[in-house]
Amino acid sequence: MLIGPSGAGKSTFAARHFASTEVLSSDALRAMVADDPNDQAATDAAFELLHTALGLRLARRRLTVVDATNVERWARAGLLAIARRHHRPATAIAFALPVAVCLERNAARLDRRLPPPAIRRQHRLMTASLATLAEEGLESVWRLDDATAVAGARLERVPGQRSV
Ligand code: GDP
Ligand code: MG
Repeated sequence: MLIGPSGAGKSTFAARHFASTEVLSSDALRAMVADDPNDQAATDAAFELLHTALGLRLARRRLTVVDATNVERWARAGLLAIARRHHRPATAIAFALPVAVCLERNAARLDRRLPPPAIRRQHRLMTASLATLAEEGLESVWRLDDATAVAGARLERVPGQRSV
């Protein structure tokens, strides 16, 4: 699972490191059900699809990346429960970039822009999460603190073993 506020660079990172079929994006699934990645009223339906697709993929032991903010513990717990049900390890990559960077990128983006208070809130929730993330049952937690760390991240696939 990727963790981070909107504007942190999750989707860019996912596109760089993973095949498009490996990525389940909450925005893409909102668009799938409502023709609009910003339609918050489509969130429940989008996550229903995301959880279903995640379970179906993990049953086939397919590496799967959940591209959603995942800044709330209950959201992560839902994903972890699905991973456990399928006896698959779960790993988190946290995009712990400064809030100013997220706000700046949000302001500059052309696709989907969130109100700054929403980004600040997501960032607060992420920051609060980081302290206890290691106790949530994840196999490993990788924390990227700035753009240099994000740019330098190298992912290694170990066949038949850990996913990341
Ligand atoms: P997400 O909301 O976390 O999925 O973030 P995105 O991946 O959509 O990125 C948000 C904005 O920041 C986009 O306009 C990206 O082009 C830009 N962005 C993402 N990653 C980087 C990065 O490493 N460096 C810079 N300069 N911009 C980035
Ligand atoms: Mg995104």
